[in-house]
Amino acid sequence: MATPPPTRRRFTIAGRTVATGQQADIRLKVSETYLGDDVSIHLRVIRAKRPGPTIFVTAAIHGDELNGVGVIHDLLFNDSLQLARGALILVPVVNVFGFEANERYLPDRRDLNRSFPGNPKGSLAARVAHAFFENVVRRCDYGIDLHTAAIQRTNYPNIRAKLSDPRIRRIAEAFGAELLISGAGPEGSFRREACAAGCPTICVEAGEPWKIEPAIVQFGVRGVRNVLIELGMLKGTATRPTYQTRVNRTTWVRAMVGGILRFHVAPGQIVRAGQEIASNSSLMGEEQNVLVSPIDGIILGMTTLPAVKPGEPVCHIGRPTLAIKKIEQALGAENGAQNVLRRAERHLATSIRQVPVPSS
Ligand SMILES: [Zn+2]
Repeated sequence: MATPPPTRRRFTIAGRTVATGQQADIRLKVSETYLGDDVSIHLRVIRAKRPGPTIFVTAAIHGDELNGVGVIHDLLFNDSLQLARGALILVPVVNVFGFEANERYLPDRRDLNRSFPGNPKGSLAARVAHAFFENVVRRCDYGIDLHTAAIQRTNYPNIRAKLSDPRIRRIAEAFGAELLISGAGPEGSFRREACAAGCPTICVEAGEPWKIEPAIVQFGVRGVRNVLIELGMLKGTATRPTYQTRVNRTTWVRAMVGGILRFHVAPGQIVRAGQEIASNSSLMGEEQNVLVSPIDGIILGMTTLPAVKPGEPVCHIGRPTLAIKKIEQALGAENGAQNVLRRAERHLATSIRQVPVPSS
């Protein structure tokens, strides 16, 4: 049977019906505490008067990843978010248990982002995932899931999406990141299962956990608005990035010996094969080795913890499909002072002490 037009879909979540042209804050019960009190995911539903797509924006599926919470907060405060069409569901915190504990995972140590689409008779994680998936994802036409790097790391803003699917590629490109990393995502991950259920969803990776970083919030708000404009849900002009490229290969540079790092690069920076990434010194200040980039690429992410043991990740580098020379040309011609991604680049670098490469 054909999908009914969006206007005729009943918009009732957790017993609350939201009429066209209205908005409502709704608490969706997904679990209980030891005390037997309800644990609920808080949602804002905003419906335009005119029909159109329904899209969710989610954050903190990993409970310690707060940049997305900041993005959604900004959208909630923003009076200019006058939807022209469709419906927007804003979910500042999905993993309520993890958020309360400043933790990535759920109290049962499971990763909510590997527990979708969930199971009403399964584990704590499976039940939370099921309640959210059935009540929110299944009624949506699109989704944007906001993440940061894991603990002790930071990510230069990038989009992860199954770019071979045109509906997913459309919103991935529209968001306005420079870097698009292709892939369906791991089994059980929110974005993979949402896409498999017919709701094209992208994942945004930006910044570090436990922070709400101003430049990342600016980038995220701009990106959500860009997608809403692309889908005809918001009036206005979308902002395009200075360049946009896919990243078809990524590699981690890892520590070879235990020691203290001095970094020579920052997130977002372009590097050439053989370029120095970080120098490793012993605790007593003896130079041990210099880690170099194995490829021409862009710094996608870095550790923010400058003490390392052998094998620990230091730097995540992506190889763009667009020629590095073309990227450098585009960057050379842009007005960097006004570019949110240049601001993010400077901002992220403040978490990392960067020093010049020592002359030998
Ligand atoms: Zn995450």
